[in-house]
Amino acid sequence: MIQLGKYLDNLRGVVKEVDVKSAFQKQKEGAVLLDIREKDEVNSGSPTNALRISKGMLEMSISNDIPNDDTEIYLLCASGRRSLVSAFTLQQLGYKHIYSVKGGFTEWKNQELPFEVPQKLNEEDLERYKRHLLIPEIGEKGQIKLLKSRVLIVGAGGIGSPVAWYLAAAGVGNIGIIDDDVVDRTNLQRQILHTESSVGSFKVDSAKERLEALNPKINIIPIKERLNAENIESIISDFDVVLDGTDNFTTRYLINDACVKLKIPNVHGSVFRFEGQVSTFWPASEKENAPCYRCVYPSPPPPELAPSCAEAGVLGVLPGMVGVMCATETIKILVGFGNLMVGKLLCFNAATWDFDVYDVDQKSDCPYCGCKHEEDYPEYSNYAQFCSI
Ligand SMILES: [Zn+2]
Repeated sequence: MIQLGKYLDNLRGVVKEVDVKSAFQKQKEGAVLLDIREKDEVNSGSPTNALRISKGMLEMSISNDIPNDDTEIYLLCASGRRSLVSAFTLQQLGYKHIYSVKGGFTEWKNQELPFEVPQKLNEEDLERYKRHLLIPEIGEKGQIKLLKSRVLIVGAGGIGSPVAWYLAAAGVGNIGIIDDDVVDRTNLQRQILHTESSVGSFKVDSAKERLEALNPKINIIPIKERLNAENIESIISDFDVVLDGTDNFTTRYLINDACVKLKIPNVHGSVFRFEGQVSTFWPASEKENAPCYRCVYPSPPPPELAPSCAEAGVLGVLPGMVGVMCATETIKILVGFGNLMVGKLLCFNAATWDFDVYDVDQKSDCPYCGCKHEEDYPEYSNYAQFCSI
């Protein structure tokens, strides 16, 4: 005779059970709420921000998501019975703080606790992003994050072009591109978004056309403007990451100052002849002492020492290399994996293949990073004047 009831009662002797409200409170305090129901059950709703691994895959995949056996984990199924069984299994695997949520998702909903209907990739997306889905660090969850993300690319030029191509290919769902310039034939040596037929048209229009041909499902937002002290906050506040691919100091300092104030990560790339630089300026990130651009470069160099590409020349492929690194960094920020370039400055020389990564720290007297309250924040200075000194 099969005795399920007795088996579950025995498990209750070795597995701790908690009610849904306590589990919700613990989740808010940082514990993992793990929904172990099957995909079709989860698709009609699951506690907000729960980790989801179906019972069938649990033993095989949990160590990827929860490598630390000290993590506090609350298991949830539909009624609280499957979670009891799985909690026992996870204890056997070595997890030390495992609890089963009494009443499961049914009780969770009865108590009107928050839940969400998880977004799913459709068949076409599953195919398009298949190579991402195979990487555990991205997977379906990471791909959905990318599709929901919003990135602003400042400048549809040498650096902005490869960034835009790769972010569009990767499925970043909303890509804003700001540039008020038109395509010139001298741009085509490096600005790979544009072709001979785009000469004379706005760069953002040519960019939109190419990127939509590559990935018609994403949203390309062309902005035919130049960033200035008046419009910058309203434009960038709409984005998760700002990519600075400009070639002038006026805009670069302005982007820095606004990103510090609005706590937006500023992925930075710059080029000069054979030399490239990449970093992420993000003082509000989790990394301690993360600097802004001004901490590293408190003031712009004199114009004769900082000529633009138009004046100094640049190896055409170099902004491509820098742009690809910036796109990589942006994807890592959006999905949340790996080590970022926050607090690091990569400098390389494409002629000598010298690559150096420097640690860069926040300056204690930086008037921008040091601001704790919005009202103390310095006004955007008169950048044009400041840069023409
Ligand atoms: Zn700073």
